[in-house]
Amino acid sequence: MQFRDLKAQYQKYKAEIDSAIQEVLLNANFIGGKQVGELEALLAEYVGVKHCISCANGTEAMTLVAMAWGIKAGDAVFVPDFTFFSTGEIVSFEGATPIFVDVDRDTFNLDPAKLEKAIRKTIAKGKLTPKAIIPVDLFGLPANYPEILKIAKKYNLLVLEDGAQGFGGNINGQRACSFGDAATTSFFPAKPLGCYGDGGAVFTNDDELAQLVKSLKVHGKGDNKYDNVRIGVNSRLDTIQAAVLKVKLKAFINHELEDVNRVYRHYNERLDGVVEIPVIPDGFYSSFAQYTIKLKNKEQRDGLQAKLKEQGIPSMIYYIKPMHKQGAFADLEFDENDFEVTNELCDIVLSLPMHPYITEEDVTAVCDVIKSYIV
Ligand SMILES: *Cc1c(COP(=O)(O)O)cnc(C)c1O
Repeated sequence: MQFRDLKAQYQKYKAEIDSAIQEVLLNANFIGGKQVGELEALLAEYVGVKHCISCANGTEAMTLVAMAWGIKAGDAVFVPDFTFFSTGEIVSFEGATPIFVDVDRDTFNLDPAKLEKAIRKTIAKGKLTPKAIIPVDLFGLPANYPEILKIAKKYNLLVLEDGAQGFGGNINGQRACSFGDAATTSFFPAKPLGCYGDGGAVFTNDDELAQLVKSLKVHGKGDNKYDNVRIGVNSRLDTIQAAVLKVKLKAFINHELEDVNRVYRHYNERLDGVVEIPVIPDGFYSSFAQYTIKLKNKEQRDGLQAKLKEQGIPSMIYYIKPMHKQGAFADLEFDENDFEVTNELCDIVLSLPMHPYITEEDVTAVCDVIKSYIV
């Protein structure tokens, strides 16, 4: 059994993907081919925003926005404590200070009440200037934007949606990667919409920001690549990746997103009452980058993972360490009491095999092992 079966997906779409790649090879337009612009237009339309700007990966997508916003030393940026390293990394990379905020135990996402508390605390300390919030759509579930955006407005903060895992989710029909002032996603192969290498994108309705990001991703170009008006980076999605993504986006929209939600229901039916199953609040729709359960304690979680492994079933621990405990952030000051939920989650979460091509039989097999282990 595969944790995320990319081979099954390729087999299903082999003819289309092969011919899409072949077309790029024959035209030899490896960088900046027409597929890149076509993909950006399709993505912007699907998400429901004016601009989609592709780039090299999801981390750089966030960095480009932070650069465009001029986030710098002395600025505070609020980031969930329970996320992939990138979300905090890009803040420090720009010289600013990430302020980690605990998450909601049910949704795994940024806790709005604790966010406001952290903002007030930062203001009261008076050392840093609160500048932005980076909510994460963890495991495919959009963060609580209705509440977060109210707080952002109250304290005049920018919001960057880290939709690396969230592409395809929505809140009452409004799609992920359209919340806040800008959003980003990743096309890393295992993400909800993945390519065959690295890739990422920035989404925004802000014309000025879009122009700036387009310049920054091509060496700070002015009128052209050889007219450089600011210091930028080189961050491109190549044509082969765009061609692959065009095929995969169609599959994602046609059936894959619904398929993972069907798998989610199959898991829930079998695991409800056995372990703590994912909580999707009313009006929220997840793209299920992960199906993550909670066990009673670390001993039970680690024991279950070993048991699954014995039966040939892969599982993953996302995440085993809170951001504030990462060695790279050892210089920052923390109050350990601020991270009660994340500290617990890192000990009790377990992500099960989840992808559009997993069969109901496989889901049953996974759940049977869990049931026999728990009771
Ligand atoms: C994967 C991921 C990223 C980074 O994406 P890359 O394309 O690997 O750079 C950022 N944030 C979160 C939450 C992610 O899961």
